[in-house]
Amino acid sequence: MQPSSNESSLDALFSSVGVVPRRRFLTAGAGIVSAAIVGAGTAEAQTTVAPSEQDRQHMSQAIQLMRQAGVIDKTGGPFGAVIVRDGEVLAASGNSVLRDNDPSAHAEVNAIRMACKKVGAPNLRGATLFTSCEPCPMCYATAYWARVSKIYYAAAWTDYADLFDDSNISQDMKRPYAERTVPIGQLMQGDAQQVWLEYRKMPSKTRY
Ligand SMILES: [Zn+2]
Repeated sequence: MQPSSNESSLDALFSSVGVVPRRRFLTAGAGIVSAAIVGAGTAEAQTTVAPSEQDRQHMSQAIQLMRQAGVIDKTGGPFGAVIVRDGEVLAASGNSVLRDNDPSAHAEVNAIRMACKKVGAPNLRGATLFTSCEPCPMCYATAYWARVSKIYYAAAWTDYADLFDDSNISQDMKRPYAERTVPIGQLMQGDAQQVWLEYRKMPSKTRY
């Protein structure tokens, strides 16, 4: 992974979110395992491996949280996620978009936030994210930013495309700005570029 190139351009990030994993999912779909594996980062990380019994137990917990969130407690949609590193469950969460009135409270984002707080760092290198459903672009991007090392998912976008917009958002992000669902335009680039100039000169600029 090359943070310098990936962090400099949202377009680069979004194109990697929208295109690379989708291609990988299609490849993984031909495999015999029910869960797909996604290496956050470069295309070279693409590998399909048979999950272990331990992996299945973690995914089972994610699916329990999925049912809890969407069917029993109704805190949000039926989505659950578990984050594991070195055999330790760092965080586990269901979707809480409705309970929290927070459109970003997807299970994966909730779990990533909890896990980062627990480890006291904004990254989760070496961790695996088990998510009950194929991560949406926001959750994939959050896992990417968190430098999660591996993602397993159970249900695919196509299993609930009639109910949730994951696939639509992915397709939308591949379109030119002028054709996007949410109108997007540029304003005051020069003023913002000035801050980049200042930031670039800082000897101890923040990197993550
Ligand atoms: Zn999501």
